[in-house]
Amino acid sequence: MYGKTSFLLTGDAEQDEEREIIDSGADITSTVLKVGHHGSSSSTSIYFLREAAPEYAVISVGEGNSYGHPTEQTLSRLRDADVKTYRTDMQGDIICTSDGKNVKFKTEKNADADTLAGSGAGQKSSSSQAAIIGAGSGTDSTNNTEETYVLNTSAHKFHRPSCSSVNDMKEKNKKIVTESREEIIEEGYVPCKRCKP
Ligand SMILES: [Zn+2]
Repeated sequence: MYGKTSFLLTGDAEQDEEREIIDSGADITSTVLKVGHHGSSSSTSIYFLREAAPEYAVISVGEGNSYGHPTEQTLSRLRDADVKTYRTDMQGDIICTSDGKNVKFKTEKNADADTLAGSGAGQKSSSSQAAIIGAGSGTDSTNNTEETYVLNTSAHKFHRPSCSSVNDMKEKNKKIVTESREEIIEEGYVPCKRCKP
């Protein structure tokens, strides 16, 4: 943390550890996220990304490394979260400076590289996804059934009413709703990892 800017370095945290960090209730909101595990798909879960809400991400990865890092999954998560991403494999050394308010990046090369460009396969899947959304806009609402959920308005998580966390929740943070899962997620709530609503 430096002034109003903050840096989150997850090192080689895997999703389980990311989950523990989120569940601990720590404020992980950060300006810059150094993507964990060289951008492998086992790190940087959607939930973690949502909690951290970084403006920038840095992926430190060797050029042409044999693990295929960073993976298309990680890139597409960053793309969906609209995170400006820098990659050492495409841009060489990346120097990040903060004056306490703004963060500036300097790259060795390819400053304007399209770091989140999907592979050919990735682009194909996004167009077929659009087709699925189009088809689902009819009356078929199998994914839209309303159910009773318990929201934690403080932690922004939602639970099944039977979840053990519901009992531990403070009464003032508890909100019982009957809505579809999608609606609740759209309102910014994250499904509980214990009861997996
Ligand atoms: Zn729960």
